[in-house]
Amino acid sequence: MTTSPTVVARETYHAVIGMEVHAQLQTVSKMFCSCSADYWEAAPNSHVCPVCLAMPGVLPVINEAAVEQTVRTGLALNCEIAPFSVFARKNYSYPDLPKGYQISQYELPLCHDGWLMIDGDDNQPRRIGIRRAHLEEDTGKTIHMDGVSLVDLNRAGVPLLEIVTESDLRSADEAYRYLVKLRTILRYLGVNSGDMEKGAMRCEVNLSLRTAEQATRGEYGVKVEVKNLNSFKAVRDSIAYEVARQTVVLDSGGSVQQVTMGWDEDRRRTVLQRSKESSEDYRYFPEPDLPPLELSSEWIEAVRTTLPELPDARIARFTGNYGISRQDAEVLTAERGIAEWFEEAVRAYEGSPREVANWVTGELFALLNTQEGDITALDLSPDDLAALLALVDAGVINRNTGKRVLAEMVSTGQPPQAIIDAQGLAQVSDEAGLAAVVDAVLAANPDAVAKYRDGKTSLLGWFMGQVMKETRGKANPDVVRGLLAKRLNTQE
Ligand SMILES: [Zn+2]
Repeated sequence: MTTSPTVVARETYHAVIGMEVHAQLQTVSKMFCSCSADYWEAAPNSHVCPVCLAMPGVLPVINEAAVEQTVRTGLALNCEIAPFSVFARKNYSYPDLPKGYQISQYELPLCHDGWLMIDGDDNQPRRIGIRRAHLEEDTGKTIHMDGVSLVDLNRAGVPLLEIVTESDLRSADEAYRYLVKLRTILRYLGVNSGDMEKGAMRCEVNLSLRTAEQATRGEYGVKVEVKNLNSFKAVRDSIAYEVARQTVVLDSGGSVQQVTMGWDEDRRRTVLQRSKESSEDYRYFPEPDLPPLELSSEWIEAVRTTLPELPDARIARFTGNYGISRQDAEVLTAERGIAEWFEEAVRAYEGSPREVANWVTGELFALLNTQEGDITALDLSPDDLAALLALVDAGVINRNTGKRVLAEMVSTGQPPQAIIDAQGLAQVSDEAGLAAVVDAVLAANPDAVAKYRDGKTSLLGWFMGQVMKETRGKANPDVVRGLLAKRLNTQE
């Protein structure tokens, strides 16, 4: 069965949602040893050493690059960076955790009290508090197959950044937008690949419902956790499902139980994983094998200077300086590489940046939809796009031919002028030559001419089309339009 609970709410409930995201950092080596952190598709247990295998007597060493990436992220999320933070042992027992504990941060995280802006459901900007962002290590992986369980420890010890929000999210859509925004920022910073399919970002949601009256009294409902969400869609769907499920429970006079749920993608519903009674006590204590992490304000400020321009600032600059629409600016800044490609084209082009934005978001993105990869992976340089636009502006080719040439540029990597020359695509603006074509088209279609002169002036477009067909699309449309108007509006 894949039915969601039907909701006919007697009471209006408001969702209170918090989110935890685990993001793998893009360091060369693991968090506490020198094993390569790039384990994707590597043979099982080939990226391991005595430290990440938890052999007796080994000592962890803090990966400085992971600390720096965490601080970069904290600064980008407007967090306070703790000058003094402490690693802690989170004790639990699981086959993919050879030490029997995970090194994490608990009472004193590296980053805390930040925020990130999203568009709220009411289209107003909403500030989502970031309670903390701390550093920890990833676990290994247990693989169940053919009746046996296998453990691969390549992932064990990969640096993991946990980013925890305040309970500021109010709906499945807001949660989704938060994740999209967060991923964009992490990718801009170069600290995370954003690749959900490879498990580079994993999400957990906590959610409770309350009535407006409870909200006024500052009260909260019972919190349910949903863990192991491996796609943004699963986050959105599981929240929508839980809101509906809890609404039914509350409306029927029941009470929501404090539990941990998982998401069953096939059945499209949350499933119970753990009740409150069986919830674990991790017995955190400070990691005795590692010193506290002490960061000087000079070092933190030096990291701050390495921050790139972030998406919000870039959107503001694109709309303000270039006069492009917010919608286009959002599309163009969704990936740092695209934004930088676009700006290079703007610099190389003498016309309006809006024109570049139109071509990139219109023609070029349409071509990309039929191709693998993104704009930066194309064999097309920003300079060549600028050159193409200049050729259209100069009337060497018309706009429609320009689109054809662009498609050719994308598939062959050739510059526009070479394609125009090789295929004889240069626009025909010569008035005498075009007049002969116009006259021939009019002579061949006396009925249409008569209708036009009877008042059906919308036929002008059809005549334009005929002339374009005769000239294989190369005629200068302005010249053709002028010639047609002159001929058709002059009664013979
Ligand atoms: Zn190792």
